Amino acid sequence: MEKTVSNPEVLQRKHTRREFRERMQSGELKACIIPVAAIEQHLEHLAMEHDWRSVCHVAVAVAERLRPHVLVAEGIMTGISEHHMRHPGTLSLRPGTFLTVVADLIDSVVRAGFKNVLVLNGHGGNTAPVNGTWEQFLRMNQVNLHFLCYWDVLTEADAKELLKSGHKLPNDLPGHAQEFETAFALAAFPENVRTKMWTDQADKRPSMATAQQGGEFIKRIVERVTIYVQEMIDGKRVTQIPAYFP
Ligand SMILES: [Zn+2]
Repeated sequence: MEKTVSNPEVLQRKHTRREFRERMQSGELKACIIPVAAIEQHLEHLAMEHDWRSVCHVAVAVAERLRPHVLVAEGIMTGISEHHMRHPGTLSLRPGTFLTVVADLIDSVVRAGFKNVLVLNGHGGNTAPVNGTWEQFLRMNQVNLHFLCYWDVLTEADAKELLKSGHKLPNDLPGHAQEFETAFALAAFPENVRTKMWTDQADKRPSMATAQQGGEFIKRIVERVTIYVQEMIDGKRVTQIPAYFP
C-alpha cells in the first residue's frame, strides 16, 4: 500500500517534495524548529547522545502539540564541546564550523517559506557562540527567528520544588549529567542511564534522580516551549531585527 504523510507528519525529513510543497503552499505550515545539541561525555552513567536525544524529544513533543502547523527540521547532533575533549569519544565542532552549519540550516528553511524559525538548543557550550553572532543571523534572514535553550523556560522555583541535590541556575539546572539531565533520561529514554555506574563514580548527585521527577520537568518544558512557539505564530513574540549601520 502506498504511504502518505500521516497525522500529518511533524518531521520535515519524512516528507516527499510534493507533500512538503503542498503543505507549505496551503499555508498550513507556520513554524519550523531546528534542534541543535552535542554528542559528548556525560560522566560515567549517561550516554553521550543525551543533549541530542533530549532536545529532539522536546522539539517533537512541541510540534505534535501544535500539529499541523509546526515541523521539526534536521538540526545538528554535534556541538561545540572542546571543553569535554579530555574524555575520549566526545565529538566536537569548532565554533566556526558549528555556526556556519546553523546559518545554512536557517537559510534553507527560510528559503522553503518559513517565517517563524526557532533554533532550539540542548547544549550549554553552543550558547555563547550563537549569542555572539545572532544579530548577524537576524539581519541576514529578516524573519521571526529565535534561539532558545530548552531549560531556559524553567525557573529557580521549579528547581527548588523538583531538585534534591541543589537548585542554583545554571549549575544544578541544567547542570551537566547531574540530577536534572539524569531525571530527563530516566523518564524519556531510560536505556541511556547505567544505574550501576552512578554509584561507582565520585559524584553521587545524579543518583538522586527519578523518572517521576524527569516526567514533571519534561511536562513543564514542553508546555512552556509550546506556548513560546504558539506566541511566535500568533505574532505575540516577534524578534527585533537590528538596524543596519546608517
Ligand atoms: Zn548534557
